[in-house]
Amino acid sequence: MKEIILVKYGEIILKGGNRPVFERILIKNIKSALKGFSDVKISIAQATIYIETRGEDTDEVCEKLGKIFGIVSVSRAGVCEKDIESMKAAAVEYCGRNLKAGMRFKVEAKRSDKRFPLNSIEIAQAVGGALHDNIDGLKVDVHKPDVLVRAEVRDNAAYVYSTLDKINGRGGMPTGTGGRATLLLSGGIDSPVAGYMIAKRGVELDAVNFFSYPYTSDRAKEKVIELARILSEYVSKINLYIVPFTEIQLEIRDKCPEEHMTLIMRRFMMKISEIIAKKHKSAALITGESVGQVASQTLAALNVTNSVCQIPVLRPVIGMDKDEIVERAREIGTFETSILPYEDCCTVFTPKHPTTQPKLADIEKTEAVLDIDTLIEKAVDGVELIEVYPDYEV
Ligand code: ATP
Ligand code: MG
Repeated sequence: MKEIILVKYGEIILKGGNRPVFERILIKNIKSALKGFSDVKISIAQATIYIETRGEDTDEVCEKLGKIFGIVSVSRAGVCEKDIESMKAAAVEYCGRNLKAGMRFKVEAKRSDKRFPLNSIEIAQAVGGALHDNIDGLKVDVHKPDVLVRAEVRDNAAYVYSTLDKINGRGGMPTGTGGRATLLLSGGIDSPVAGYMIAKRGVELDAVNFFSYPYTSDRAKEKVIELARILSEYVSKINLYIVPFTEIQLEIRDKCPEEHMTLIMRRFMMKISEIIAKKHKSAALITGESVGQVASQTLAALNVTNSVCQIPVLRPVIGMDKDEIVERAREIGTFETSILPYEDCCTVFTPKHPTTQPKLADIEKTEAVLDIDTLIEKAVDGVELIEVYPDYEV
């Protein structure tokens, strides 16, 4: 039997007048994610995207679709003629292959082609009856079914599928509908999760990493590239800007009080990231900060780092506990890479007793000994761009 993939997308967005824009961008993203597969046919009708593949690619195609923001569900469906006998047979053959004795099921039908002679209740009864009669031990349960079977008569054909052939999508908004933001991407657990959360709202990502060669190794850099690569599976491409940070860190270490080191360093990071963001038409910064997690993330410290930026700084994990962030990191696939042991530029220059209640005026005074503008200019001049795609080989 012919099989097709049915992709459903968010209902809320459909209410506005922006539906065509949303659909066009979602289809473009699907095409881009599936460009490695030959003979893929994509069409759209009645708030559903239909995808035909060469049968052997279907599993892999579904897996890719499961990473595209804006998609709510991905179902494999059997396709048949628009007559009730074909639909009954298709349900038994296609949905029946996963149905087992003891399962409780319910059929829901939909008839968007109103010329079809049976109404949706009659379709559901006919298909339900066929399943019940042909598969031993199935039980009907309209209140709490284990499996929901759908039978739909649409304009072009009829479709049968069940929740056993469905994967949940990630929801969110299609990448490219929400502008662009720049993620401060360290090698840690938190920042990749922060980037994912903002990207999920349709925002394209650039990333910035501060790198302190030779205090941090090539392995540490590869780890950051790999994290960007994993994130690019969701957003298709990430421009990763690697900023040489050694000179700034050495200057701070040599000329500023040890307890202010981290905060001054973080102010440099934010300023440089903002310059890079503005240069590349990115409207906000994203960090993985969470209140109270470390000394530089108390509210007083956040105030000190935030004050160097004019554009919004988004901190989506700000109220999350570490174990909640870890859970998200596992779910999006970045955790195993984040916990690889390579050092980060911050860990190399960490003071023993950082201030937790800094005053902005004190920090501004102690950092004033540095030639801030020249240091920033040199760092920005030395930026290396790495274009990271899902198939980038680190
Ligand atoms: P993470 O787990 O994301 O590394 P963290 O808990 O280690 O975060 P910090 O080291 O204080 O926290 O960094 C706070 C945030 O600053 C990070 O989430 C990240 O957004 C940014 N950041 C830290 N180090 C770097 C770096 N080397 N390059 C780019 N951004 C960085
Ligand atoms: Mg870190």
